[in-house]
Amino acid sequence: MVAKLIAWAYANGFELTFGEAYRTPEQQEIYVKAGKSKTLKSKHLERLAIDVNLFIQDEYKTDADSYRPLGEFWKSLDQGNRWGGDWGWDANHFEYAGDNREP
Ligand SMILES: [Zn+2]
Repeated sequence: MVAKLIAWAYANGFELTFGEAYRTPEQQEIYVKAGKSKTLKSKHLERLAIDVNLFIQDEYKTDADSYRPLGEFWKSLDQGNRWGGDWGWDANHFEYAGDNREP
């Protein structure tokens, strides 16, 4: 599904670079302590989440509205897919949560 997201992005005028994918429990603890993450149960620990960096016409984007079409496409791929922008932060985060859809 990540491959489909990347292919769809490029077919629709977006460019992506990769942010984080796998994260160790030690790194997650550092992020929570630093306020950069709100959970110790991140899908990054299970290799089920990716963060991407979005560029539109060579401009780096950080606002949720720019990511929204990617988030909608991601969710259309599988009912278990979640987009971080729906939580009000974390717009560059895409994860597969399977049947566990609680944030
Ligand atoms: Zn993330």
